[in-house]
Amino acid sequence: MSVLETLGAVPVINAGGRLTALGGSTLSTAVTDAMAEAGRGYCDVADLKRRAGAWIAVRCGADDAYVTTGAAAGIALMVAAVVAGTDPVRVASLPDSVEPNRILILGGHMIDFGAPLEQMVRMGGGRPLAVGSVNRATAAELRARLAAGAVAAVLFVRSHHAFQRDMPDLPTVVDAARQAGVPVLVDAAAEEDLRASIAAGAALVAYSGGKAFEGPTSGFVAGRSDLIDGCRAQEAGIGRPMKVGKETIAGLVAALAAHAHRDPAAEEARRDAIVSTLIEGLGSVDGLRVDREADEARPSIVRVGMALAPEAGFALPELVAALRGGTPPVYVRTHHLAEGRITLDPRPLEPAEAEVVVRRVREEAARLRHAGRD
Ligand SMILES: *Cc1c(COP(=O)(O)O)cnc(C)c1O
Repeated sequence: MSVLETLGAVPVINAGGRLTALGGSTLSTAVTDAMAEAGRGYCDVADLKRRAGAWIAVRCGADDAYVTTGAAAGIALMVAAVVAGTDPVRVASLPDSVEPNRILILGGHMIDFGAPLEQMVRMGGGRPLAVGSVNRATAAELRARLAAGAVAAVLFVRSHHAFQRDMPDLPTVVDAARQAGVPVLVDAAAEEDLRASIAAGAALVAYSGGKAFEGPTSGFVAGRSDLIDGCRAQEAGIGRPMKVGKETIAGLVAALAAHAHRDPAAEEARRDAIVSTLIEGLGSVDGLRVDREADEARPSIVRVGMALAPEAGFALPELVAALRGGTPPVYVRTHHLAEGRITLDPRPLEPAEAEVVVRRVREEAARLRHAGRD
């Protein structure tokens, strides 16, 4: 019996995406083997962290890198690195801090990724300050905030959560910050491109290990070596409750190595086959309108969108609840539920699971339609 079975935790079919709430990603045997092997022995963990950091840094085109528990920890540590640096007294005082400790964030980047971004900034001793509004900010507003002083860094978010339209882009932000002598920190939690932010001039960038890279629950920060030293220095302070062990480090490195050697064409073909299974299986269901849907931020990610025809006889939230409540539970992507759409993400699905999703959606839609008529 597995530990999950012992606990009575029910396995679910994840058609929602690489969602933390459903366990992030599944781990390859290369990753679990690396974790098990690292877990069975001892090593000098500080030395292992430095070596892993150097290895990751090469992949990012950065000077150095630091392994964290996730991107949220990475955000707090990046801020701590620019606010307290390696000074032992300042490190021990966080989250209390002295100026310069303002962290500028574009209005559209003040996101909640499951927790408020702002709060991660405050944990690291930063004073978050919005530039512009939620739906519009200008380079002139950013320059004015920078000129007002006491700014430790600008924090830029690359994410589908963030509002990017009518916001200065990263090169513009880097340019303005550089003129003010202020570093730019990037939250690239779910991004796949390891080099883009550093190449654009970011001083530090934070990633999740368990999202695009399909690693264990983990993350890393890459960038300037003095600031990575600043992240490392927080182990004597706020970094302690964000501690990673040797098995996490080993799993993350194995995942990044596997990711570098993946075959994007084969992966796309696999995803296309799953999308086709879903479209073919669900296209003929009465009341459902099914089509291919490209991700707004990353059009290479194609999902299956589902909406209801007016004659459906039931509401979309009912279908979502029925899919979760049945056997096996099926979780769909509900980011656009308020707009009357749900989405199936092919990435976490195995071909056999896609067949089960088709069966469950057909059954539940038929049952709800029938119940609606009674
Ligand atoms: C997921 C996410 C985070 C948090 O990352 P964790 O690795 O779960 O800590 C932060 N920012 C953005 C934009 C995210 O998508």
